[in-house]
Amino acid sequence: MRRTNLFTKTLKNAPADEVAKNAQLLIRAGFIHKEMAGVYAYEPLGLRVLENIKQIVREEMNAIGGNEAMMTTLQPREIFEKSDRWDDKKVDNWFKTKLVNGSELGMGLTHEEPIVDMLSSYINSYKDLPMNIYQIQNKFRNEKRAKSGLLRGREFVMKDMYTFARNQEEHDRLYEQIAVAYHRVYARLGIGDVTFRVKADGGIFTEKYSDEFQTISPIGEDTIYHVPDTERYFNQEVAPSKAPVHEQDIEQKPMEEKYTPGVVGVEQLAKELDVPVERTVKTMLYDVDGIVTAVAVRGDYSVNDIKLRMELSAKSARLIDESTIKQVTGAEVGYAGLINLPNDVQVVVDDTVESLVNFELGANKTDYHNVNVNWGRDLEKPERFYDIKEAKEGDQDPETGRTYEVVKAVEVGNIFPLETKYTDALDVFYTDENGAKQSIIMGCYGIGISRLVGMLAEHFADDKGLVWPMNIAPYKVYLVSIGEKGAAEADKLYDELIKEGIEVLYDDRDERPGAKFADAELLGIPLRVTVSDRGIEAGEFELTERAVGETIKLNREALIAKLLMLAANS
Ligand code: ATP
Ligand code: MG
Repeated sequence: MRRTNLFTKTLKNAPADEVAKNAQLLIRAGFIHKEMAGVYAYEPLGLRVLENIKQIVREEMNAIGGNEAMMTTLQPREIFEKSDRWDDKKVDNWFKTKLVNGSELGMGLTHEEPIVDMLSSYINSYKDLPMNIYQIQNKFRNEKRAKSGLLRGREFVMKDMYTFARNQEEHDRLYEQIAVAYHRVYARLGIGDVTFRVKADGGIFTEKYSDEFQTISPIGEDTIYHVPDTERYFNQEVAPSKAPVHEQDIEQKPMEEKYTPGVVGVEQLAKELDVPVERTVKTMLYDVDGIVTAVAVRGDYSVNDIKLRMELSAKSARLIDESTIKQVTGAEVGYAGLINLPNDVQVVVDDTVESLVNFELGANKTDYHNVNVNWGRDLEKPERFYDIKEAKEGDQDPETGRTYEVVKAVEVGNIFPLETKYTDALDVFYTDENGAKQSIIMGCYGIGISRLVGMLAEHFADDKGLVWPMNIAPYKVYLVSIGEKGAAEADKLYDELIKEGIEVLYDDRDERPGAKFADAELLGIPLRVTVSDRGIEAGEFELTERAVGETIKLNREALIAKLLMLAANS
């Protein structure tokens, strides 16, 4: 490609409203164009990067028997009603549209139902399984906040794969096989050393965790808890945790009811009552699968809804509304505690509260809190304490007893057990060897293709611009001509490199050398070849590796040999 044929130019500045570094760089370098928040077009150079990433993913998915298909963006409502996902109360980030006749359509939010529906024409017997189907295409999600440039878009490119298995063992085997393929993908993308398999929420259809592939990065939205020197990685949303314990009183003091009008929040309460925050206890009221549940946790922690749901093997756990709180506690909001609760209230207490002596609790009475509360004497000690707290820095992994290391990361992929939720809902079964009807176990597996474009752009950048690894770079060589003779020689070299199958972006513009070099750096093409009048006189070509920054001089033959070697290294 000749620069004079390329419609994009490098820009001095990114749009003022673009704050993410990945988008700023990619816009300035002419890789992407911002249509609106969270929606970006791919210009020729950006498209080549996107396609290179897709190709790596595609090769790895094909290698494990994946069938590539292309599903539609317009989606019929009926199939999503079968799985109960059409309702806006169930899925709230869907772009929907209407036909002229008024019937509603969905816009490519996700594709479990359409894939299952498509497969229903082909799956009958056990001989038709297992099966593995994937697609790479745009998804549309009405994200509340589009942010971080390409990392969280409203229109973005995803690879999603779906497996269909006859039984749990078969499913588990496919699932692990895909996890291995994912590691290969990230290794080929150059982020294998910073991308880890992390346990995350499995959702409401399974008691299992899902697995996320998280790339450690300061720009990440996710917080990861890692047990040093082990493969134990948890997303904060599910990290099991043991809190540091604090020294307790030896003597139990008499319980007292304290008048605390309008005192809200543990910090203020602790100050007012002169109790350390670590000896206060928060009680929150939840609806757990329809059962009113008082959930208590030490004041310096908060309740983690996902851990609560998982610990109780429940389908849902959410805070109850104010009027129900008043009804249950007999007090205004803010004074819930564990003493004098109605009998039918389920009580779940976090293990941070177990060893407390002389602790504080809401009194279930407007304007009052109790201090010097003690297990056994003032309220019955639960038979079991739970781990339902949101993990904090400084916490330990209960299994190994080691203190977590806490890092930020970008979710670049995830794999999910779906059990038989969608296949059952869409009435797709198979007949086993004995002629009996059986459910099909499904899994889904995503990779954020366009998120990776942004992630990799930022990960490999330096202060001069982008620095693409060879196998995802839009071109392998940036050819710069300087002077008239240089241009004539560069023309010839350009043709020859193309003949050799090397992808070249040829800066044939009538520009100052400095401008051409600055562009080569901003664009991040791995190899720069400079052909100048002066060089030609000496029979020399300059070769500069973008990542290293050093320049060497070579004769024509040695240059071509070197380029062939370096460019093949992908
Ligand atoms: P997240 O937790 O980041 O919201 P998700 O768990 O909803 O994502 P999936 O629907 O399973 O993600 O999508 C699979 C992959 O697609 C994710 O791992 C992520 O890499 C990518 N992805 C998800 N949402 C977006 C988005 N809005 N913009 C860009 N990439 C996304
Ligand atoms: Mg996620």
